[in-house]
Amino acid sequence: MEDLRNSRSNELDPEDMEDGDYMKKGDLSATLVRSRNKICMAILEVAGFQFLKEKVARTIAALDDLENPNNQIKISGQIIDLCTFSSSSWEWTKKYLPLDNNSQNKKLTRRQFVLEIPACLVHPLAYSIAAKPISSSCQDTSYYPTWKLASSDLYMVLNSLWKSLEPDTEKIIGNVELLPTINNLTSLPYHDYNNDETLFVENLPECLIPHQKLTGKNKISCFLCGEEMTLNKMRNHVGSHILHTLCNSEDPKVCHLRSLGENPCGFCGQDNCLTQLKIKKHSGFSIASNCPYHYSGMQYKKAAEFSKSIPCTNVPIHCLLCPTAVSGDPPTIWKYNALYHLISEHSSGSTPPSIPGQLLVQIFITKEEERALGISGHNTVDWRRQNNIPDSDGIQLGQTRKRSDTVSTAHSDNHDQKRNRLEEIAE
Ligand SMILES: [Zn+2]
Ligand SMILES: [Zn+2]
Ligand SMILES: [Zn+2]
Repeated sequence: MEDLRNSRSNELDPEDMEDGDYMKKGDLSATLVRSRNKICMAILEVAGFQFLKEKVARTIAALDDLENPNNQIKISGQIIDLCTFSSSSWEWTKKYLPLDNNSQNKKLTRRQFVLEIPACLVHPLAYSIAAKPISSSCQDTSYYPTWKLASSDLYMVLNSLWKSLEPDTEKIIGNVELLPTINNLTSLPYHDYNNDETLFVENLPECLIPHQKLTGKNKISCFLCGEEMTLNKMRNHVGSHILHTLCNSEDPKVCHLRSLGENPCGFCGQDNCLTQLKIKKHSGFSIASNCPYHYSGMQYKKAAEFSKSIPCTNVPIHCLLCPTAVSGDPPTIWKYNALYHLISEHSSGSTPPSIPGQLLVQIFITKEEERALGISGHNTVDWRRQNNIPDSDGIQLGQTRKRSDTVSTAHSDNHDQKRNRLEEIAE
């Protein structure tokens, strides 16, 4: 720990700051972290750069490499403690902030101080030297000389970091999941000279404020028809509403409270929930969602498979045709909404999109599933014909198709026709 604490005190060298194209060990940089219900800035002293498939962390890296999310470089570092005596600048107290103040382990271990974060979420900072003040009335002067950061820079960087998470798109929900959670409320967000919290994202959208999640056994009622059930049954129930609408089939459970969303959330059937599927490094999936009915106990692979007890296979999937987010993940759509998404987002004029074979397999709904959810055979055939979906359940097995195969969806001669059909499907 001694080493960590004194790592900078003897090497203050302003020449270091000139080197704009690289970031190196000991540099200061900024990132965003989550602290209780806020997203705030944390300033890191960089410890190293972990490149993909390299055993040993590097001590220097080109900014161009760090900015590219495809490189998957991780930056490790310690969050520094800052104080300020004016509105114009901040100084480092030469202290580091523990990542979890509630930790039972009071020993000062590396794990309690060193943070690892995707490099594309880290912003380099310019800094200068603060010399010992001449008249030092009450403040602690033992840490001088130290680094000094301009407030205006920090607010600019905060803004740019927030923008890089694409807050105006659905991608924000997955991107925010990349931010580490820090449990140190006394120090983060940083406090200004009035001791007010500052350097956090203001007006954080309601949908990004973490809420207590329901468990599978919690009793809830359907937003659309009012039927009561436990949370673990709701996705299947809502799936039946969606499929009836999709197949233009009369729903025996009338949605008298609220009509189904146009681009319905698979957990609750409403519009405007944000859900992001993430494929974990070594296999497995995780789902981030701000839906009030998000069932976090859902097992993805099981849910994506038809079974007699839970026939609905409506799960979040990646759209491979959309550009990827900062998190490196493609945008997420719900399986039952996939066709609507492909036609509305990926048809250009009268040209229907080519669907990669893998995606086609993922979005395929079997007749067995439709039947189990109450759709009659007649409607199913109509719906398939209208949308050029091959009338065979063989595709679902994926054995006769290679990933590279593509199939076109419905042909349409002009935009209006496309809209009409979409309305037929989606209403
Ligand atoms: Zn319902
Ligand atoms: Zn929802
Ligand atoms: Zn897409």
